[in-house]
Amino acid sequence: MMNFDNEANRADLLEREIRGEFPDDKGRYGPFGGRYVPETLIPALERLDAGIKRWLKDPEYQAELTRELNTWVGRPTPLSYAHTLSARWGAHVWMKREDLAHTGAHKINSAMGQALLAKRLGAKRVVAETGAGQHGVASAAACARLGLPCTVYMGAVDIERQAPNVGRMKLMGATVVPVTGGDQTLRAAVDEAIRDWVTDPNGTYYLLGSAIGPHPYPYLVRELQSIIGRESRQQMLAQAGGLPQAVYACVGGGSNAIGMFYPFVGDKDVEIYGVEAGGRGSGLGDNSATLSYGTPGVLQGAFSLLLQDAHGQIQETHSVSAGLDYPGVGPEHAFLKTIGRVSYESIGDDESLEALEELSQAEGILPAIETAHAFAAVRAYAKRHPGSRILVGLSGRGDKDMPTLTRTLLKGKL
Ligand SMILES: *Cc1c(COP(=O)(O)O)cnc(C)c1O
Repeated sequence: MMNFDNEANRADLLEREIRGEFPDDKGRYGPFGGRYVPETLIPALERLDAGIKRWLKDPEYQAELTRELNTWVGRPTPLSYAHTLSARWGAHVWMKREDLAHTGAHKINSAMGQALLAKRLGAKRVVAETGAGQHGVASAAACARLGLPCTVYMGAVDIERQAPNVGRMKLMGATVVPVTGGDQTLRAAVDEAIRDWVTDPNGTYYLLGSAIGPHPYPYLVRELQSIIGRESRQQMLAQAGGLPQAVYACVGGGSNAIGMFYPFVGDKDVEIYGVEAGGRGSGLGDNSATLSYGTPGVLQGAFSLLLQDAHGQIQETHSVSAGLDYPGVGPEHAFLKTIGRVSYESIGDDESLEALEELSQAEGILPAIETAHAFAAVRAYAKRHPGSRILVGLSGRGDKDMPTLTRTLLKGKL
């Protein structure tokens, strides 16, 4: 283990991160990341790694990706000034509108990029996992657009909870396979998608939904989601008159957050904050705040922080937001926390719902509950730093959350 107590070491690791040296040739970010998988998976991951090296920076791939992002996804997404919240909170709040991306969240950026890669790798079909169904919908849409058959693994419990998204996937031609093993939620769905992939790693492409999993997935997803931060940086300079003092994003597996953060890592005057789900409290099982309460360990192919008990048993997690409800987190976030470049905090269920209502009424934007966690943290920052300029990632829209909101905020009001 590297010595993180030593300030000089941490500063050196930050310089290397800024120079783009991570992941290193072993797929690591400092000690985090890597490839902790059964022998049978190694050839498939190596093939993917070679494919990324061949295609990701290829001008023709980049041109097709840009064309799809601009004419089908709806990029660049706008940067909106939050007039009412800014006046009320006493600071300048700028919102990066990933809720306006096709299918309603940032997930489509990675889904389209990976589906285009799948075609170049010669895959005949795509498999994906989904929890709340957002990544399943994004994958189904990208695959329909490119004419690739798509199979989505989804926990039986989640299928029950997220029926509208199951319908959306099916309407776009995807096959949805219920997973009845394990915890019957996201973690079991990832395991099942990987099992499918290994049976035919050449003909099948595994389209992973967050910046998690074995190398090279966290890298691939970061590269595809960094368009959020790159656009935001330019838009802040053009519209807000300068870089933000603080950048905020919510963190589940960490894909929208790493996409927002990475282009700002070298701007040392910009403070960066990730916001996790504090659920109903700090006890094990009561939250999904991996970076706040987790300890180092291996989950689904990577060494990172995770929520586990003293015996290494993965804990059940809780959050009102299905998209943040995961016991692990992408390895680059564990790294950025450890070297002190990004600060992570958590916001509870009730506070996130309050923020969701405030944003809806103040700005006419109903955000995803995931996203609302970031706004609750921004409100607190604005009050501590009057007059500051704040950028917040508005990762997705809240229409998908209507069943949960009907049971909570709207209870007795309909
Ligand atoms: C899936 C999702 C998240 C959480 O996933 P990350 O990989 O952490 O970004 C956050 N917000 C929305 C709207 C989502 O759909």
